[in-house]
Amino acid sequence: MDRPTIIRKTAADLRVPPNLADYAATRAAFSWGAVRAELAGLPGGGLNIAHETVERHAQGVCRDRIAFRFLGANTSRDIRYGELSHLTSRFANVLKSLGIAKGERLFLLSGRIPELYIAVLGSFKNGTVVSPLFSAFGPEPIATRVNLGEGAILVTTELLYERKVAKIRDQLPTLRHVLLVGEGGQATNIPGTLDLGTLMTQAADDFAIVPTQAEDLSLLHFTSGTTGTPKGAMHVHGAVATHWATGKYALDLHADDIYWCTADPGWVTGTSYGIIAPLLHGVTSIVDEADFDAERWYRILAEQKVSVWYTAPTAIRMLMKAGAEIARKHSYPDLRFVASVGEPLNPEAVWWGKEVLGLPIHDNWWQTETGGIMIANTPAFDIKPGSMGRPLPGIEAAIVKKDAEDKVSLVETADTEGELALKRGWPSMLRGYLHNEERYRKCFAGPDNEWYLTGDLARRDADGYYWFVGRADDVIKSAGHLIGPFEVESALMEHPAVAEAGVIGKPDEMVGEVVKAFVSLKKGFEASDALRMELLGHARKKLGAAVAPKEIGFLPSLPRTRSGKIMRRLLKARELGLPEGDTSTLENA
Ligand code: AMP
Repeated sequence: MDRPTIIRKTAADLRVPPNLADYAATRAAFSWGAVRAELAGLPGGGLNIAHETVERHAQGVCRDRIAFRFLGANTSRDIRYGELSHLTSRFANVLKSLGIAKGERLFLLSGRIPELYIAVLGSFKNGTVVSPLFSAFGPEPIATRVNLGEGAILVTTELLYERKVAKIRDQLPTLRHVLLVGEGGQATNIPGTLDLGTLMTQAADDFAIVPTQAEDLSLLHFTSGTTGTPKGAMHVHGAVATHWATGKYALDLHADDIYWCTADPGWVTGTSYGIIAPLLHGVTSIVDEADFDAERWYRILAEQKVSVWYTAPTAIRMLMKAGAEIARKHSYPDLRFVASVGEPLNPEAVWWGKEVLGLPIHDNWWQTETGGIMIANTPAFDIKPGSMGRPLPGIEAAIVKKDAEDKVSLVETADTEGELALKRGWPSMLRGYLHNEERYRKCFAGPDNEWYLTGDLARRDADGYYWFVGRADDVIKSAGHLIGPFEVESALMEHPAVAEAGVIGKPDEMVGEVVKAFVSLKKGFEASDALRMELLGHARKKLGAAVAPKEIGFLPSLPRTRSGKIMRRLLKARELGLPEGDTSTLENA
């Protein structure tokens, strides 16, 4: 269907006065110092995310407001700001009693259960650095990350522990404690672990926050690159200023909102916008513990009276596939703003929102390294479907090009493709990759290294809207999750039949890209469907469903550069029947 290239907004689109009403004026007047002044700060000086998100409200007018409503299969549990203060203090006391010190790392492996949210905020109170793991990771990605991050303590569920951690426990030498959440709230009794519920009951419900400064570490989020091990992006307590500003401008949060962020806290959106930003603004968050289900999601939107909804393109495409009839079983009079992040949002999805929910979907852009939303479509402004929107107040973006010596220059002309860069200085910018200074340094370029290079290719149009073009590297985005090809290749190489492996993202209508692996076999092994199934099973067991390849192809040998690197780009071009581009560095060209 031919549709206009722009969705014009009028006053009728705004049910509440928008927090960002005058783009140019707000940007011009904006300062991060002014945002910092909006934050409370710790009573004795310093800054701590738990104080800003929980204590400030628990001691104020929001005390009895619902902070989180957790929806189980058939259950619902509300935690109010006052109660959240007590629960997170209990958790902080548990950490203290176990001798977990400020700056030590706590890993989390669970679904979206209350204990996860309590553990994140309780850890902040204790100055403990939180590193979330996705619950669909297999044992190998778990071990890699816990070891890289030198995890001192792991909080997980009885089920996940037995399935994924117990067998690799002896490979996690830095872990001093494992705290388990028992199934159905039952106490657990597994050797080498402690029952979290029991410890929480025994702990006191008040806790003096361990003083932290804005530059103290708060979160360690692992993300994937093209080569090598996952990168531990280090974030600080001061990032909370970005979460406050973006909660206000990009998500347009108002105090009486019912907000639903569908992201899992195993990934950065689920912590920055599933936990921190909504609490900062004192709103009520819905947390659905269940997996995606179209009927259930529409019911939640309607019954919970969700007003602001933050979700992802794959989820929207799955809703589209489920058909508009299911959506029309309900009405959504309370819904006033819908935003999406994580992968390109196709124009049809933006329009689908308008037609089925009565509201267009507002795409926004950011990444693990930026810690918060950088570029966004916001309620008051026209949408150009397919565009990620414009840089938020406090954010300076640019399109840059590198020359042969890796020097960057700004691209001033509109509609020209280049790498998306951000001027450093926003509070939630990563402060480094753990134990990998070199990789961190490579993220910056220009005079005084003032430009952070995002690794994304984009263009800016004459109106200042940014358009995503693709990744500059080989990482794969599948269902919104970033997957490093190297991690998948390494797991495949551990199989006795595999001589070499090359992994690509194969475009997929529903999830953006699926992981496809190509392998060549060692002497004595023959390609067959049985071996393909075996390799798929091997990878799934090691990596987990979120990371493992969905397809495997056999090749006699993989294309390599003369320096020995597998040419994933060429594998992809051949798979898709696209031009092979420059193959002059090909070993056997
Ligand atoms: P992650 O660090 O896992 O959050 O992934 C960040 C990456 O996801 C970005 O660098 C982009 O490649 C992609 N991404 C995030 N948001 C968008 C968007 N709105 N449109 C296109 N790609 C996006």
